[in-house]
Parts: sequence; structure tokens; C-alpha cells
Amino acid sequence: MDNRRVKAILRGMEHEFDVVIAGGGLNGPALALALADAGLGVAVVDARPADLRASDAFDGRAYALALASQRLLAALGLWGGLAAQAQPINQVRASQGHAGEGAGHFHLHFDSAEIEEGRLGYMLEDRFLYRALLGAMALPRAGRILHRAGTVVVSQTTDARGVSVGLNDGTVLRARLLVGADGRGSGVATRAGIKRRGHSYGQIALVAALDHELPHNGIAQQLFLPSGPLAILPLPGNRSSIVWSETEDHARAILALPDEAFLDVLRPRFGDFLGAISLAGPRFSYPLGMTLADHYAAERVALIGDAAHGVHPIAGQGSTSDCAMWRLWPRCWFWPIVAARISARWRSCADTSNGGAAMRRCSLTAWIR
Ligand SMILES: Cc1cc2nc3c(=O)[nH]c(=O)nc-3n(C[C@H](O)[C@H](O)[C@H](O)COP(=O)(O)OP(=O)(O)OC[C@H]3O[C@@H](n4cnc5c(N)ncnc54)[C@H](O)[C@@H]3O)c2cc1C
Repeated sequence: MDNRRVKAILRGMEHEFDVVIAGGGLNGPALALALADAGLGVAVVDARPADLRASDAFDGRAYALALASQRLLAALGLWGGLAAQAQPINQVRASQGHAGEGAGHFHLHFDSAEIEEGRLGYMLEDRFLYRALLGAMALPRAGRILHRAGTVVVSQTTDARGVSVGLNDGTVLRARLLVGADGRGSGVATRAGIKRRGHSYGQIALVAALDHELPHNGIAQQLFLPSGPLAILPLPGNRSSIVWSETEDHARAILALPDEAFLDVLRPRFGDFLGAISLAGPRFSYPLGMTLADHYAAERVALIGDAAHGVHPIAGQGSTSDCAMWRLWPRCWFWPIVAARISARWRSCADTSNGGAAMRRCSLTAWIR
């Protein structure tokens, strides 16, 4: 074996993983599965303990998934187990609303009957999606996945050959690439010197699940009210998830109300088209802001998901500002592209049949772009 080939192999041996992913929310695990399916060794490090989100108790948090996202989950082998828990979205109605009057008469109407795919998207509860991701990470795949929950990435040092990722328990993971999937306040981005810009929308989203008297027929509603949009998104059965954006002052006052008084404020906005409504679970609130990293990649570092960009959760149809309809679209377009590029490049980079020349030519920036 010639010297160059030996050196290339030695360089490979110093890496414990091909990719370390900081952040095990939604995007980190999904990327890990895609990379492992491509045969790569991946470590996912998440600050939150796994059991914090692995509960199967209904808590009302749910995602609107575009067809692109659903196809992606199918490609990862997850959709088969999730389909029965997902609520198809058959129609979307977006209308101007008035407090006290519900939806206005004029609305935009999207009907799944008009598209070949047969569905506009799906609603899926967080408890099902997250547990499916966790479960899949524990299964054998072409590559391997190490999942470290309850552990924080605290440092990163890059050099020409890779990145050393320090964890709060003193472990150092060595990889060729560090992916920041660590959310809006991404420490990976900060440590890589990637600045971000953004602003508050001056709104807080009030999130809850409601039981209602009448069937929703798979229709997602988006009411544009004067103080912010109210999304009413269908869940299985006579149940819907609401994402109700209010100005910060209004939202704080509403949050402070007991459940019945909360519903009294909601009812005139919601309207009566679903009959009587009641809370089906706890209420959540999220301050809303736009955030955008100046760059999605730096030397040996890439950002995905909210670490790269975060937008208004309008109707769970983040679309509205990014792609076409649902908010996961931008992410779901983005990270498979990164994954595909990394793995394609990686395969050619790792190919030592040309004496490691390809490997030397590959910089991270080239992988990502
Ligand atoms: C009200 C609301 C409604 C929404 N509705 C929808 C919807 O309908 N459809 C949809 O697609 N999206 C929706 N979204 C957006 C969606 O929730 C986010 O885009 C998505 O959760 C981002 O996932 P992520 O994995 O990128 O980041 P996160 O979910 O923020 O995960 C980041 C993870 O990184 C971990 N972490 C942070 N720092 C470190 C560190 N140093 N070391 C290790 N781990 C770390 C955190 O513990 C966390 O687990 C909504 C958002 C809001 C606020």
C-alpha cells in the first residue's frame, strides 16, 4: 500500500464519527437517520433528557406536515408506523376574521380534490413524531447512531482534518462535520462565529388542543384576526389544535386567565362552526420571532432547522412565508439536500481508491455548497 493511501486511512481512523449533531429536537434525529441510512456514523447529542419528550401522554402539541415532510418520514421508514396517528388535511381555508365575528365571508380555499396527491398535508402530534424518531435511532441501520440525551455540547474546535466536540460530561467526540441542530439560540453557530439576525414579531403564540362538538372534516382554518392569526388545525376525531397569535400584552393577559375564561376570550374569535368547544389538554405559549443565520455553514460546521432559520408559525403553515404551505417545508427541503450532498461528497471524499487525492480536495464548504 502506498504512503498516501496509508495516510488517508489513518486520517479516517482518528474520527469516531462522520458527523456529530448537536440538538435532538426534530431536525437533528431526522438528519441522523438520513445520514445513517447513507452508511455514515453519527452522534446525536441533546441537552434534553430523552424521557422528557418520550411520554405518550396527549399534550396537544402537534405539527402540520407538508407532503414533502410526510414523504421524507416515509423515506426514513417512519411513516408506516405514523400514518394511523396522523390526521389528513383535506382542505385549507384562509380568511380574514374579526374579533367577535369569527371568519369573514371571503376566503382562500385549497382543496385536496384539486391535486393529484390526494392530501394537502397531515397533522401529527409531537408525542408520536418524537417517539418515532427516538425509536428509529435505536434500531440498527446501515450506519450507526449514538444518541446522547441529557448531554450538552459545550465546545468545538476545528482543524484541517475534522472537528472536536466537547460535551459537558468531559467527553470529546471527534468527527468530520459538526451539525448545529440546536435551535434558535444555536451555540454551534455562535462558536463558529456565525452571526444571526432577526426580530421579534411582537406576538406570543398560544397553543392548545380543543375538543369540539362537530367534525372538522379534515379542514384546516386560518383566520387573520387584527391582533394576529388564529390557526385551527384538525387532529384525529373531533379535536383540533390551535395556534393563536396575539400581541404580547394581549397574550400575557389571556395566559393569566383560568381555562374557562381563556375559552370565553377564544370563542368569539373561533366562531361556532365546530359547535361547543372545550380544552383537551394543557395550554402552551411561545414568544414569536424571526431568526436567520448569516451563513448556514462554516469550516466543518453546518446549521439546520431553527438553528439556521426560524419563522412565524403561521397556522402551522410556515409556508406562508417560506415555501408553499407548511412550515416544515423549508427545513425538509434543506436538510435532506445537505444530507444528500454530504453523503455524496463524503462517498467521493472517502474513496481512497485514487490514493486519497479526492479526500484532500474536499473541504467542508465544498460539501455543503
Ligand atoms: C407555536 C409553534 C407552532 C409550530 N407549528 C409547527 C407546525 O405546525 N409544523 C412545523 O413543521 N413546525 C412548526 N413549528 C416549528 C417547529 O416547532 C420548529 O421549527 C422545530 O421544532 C425546530 O426543530 P429543531 O430540531 O430545528 O430545533 P428544536 O426543536 O429547537 O431542537 C433543538 C434541540 O437542541 C437542543 N440543544 C440546544 N442547545 C444544545 C446544546 N448545546 N447541546 C445539546 N443540545 C442542545 C435542545 O435541547 C433541543 O432539543 C412551530 C413552532 C411554534 C413555536
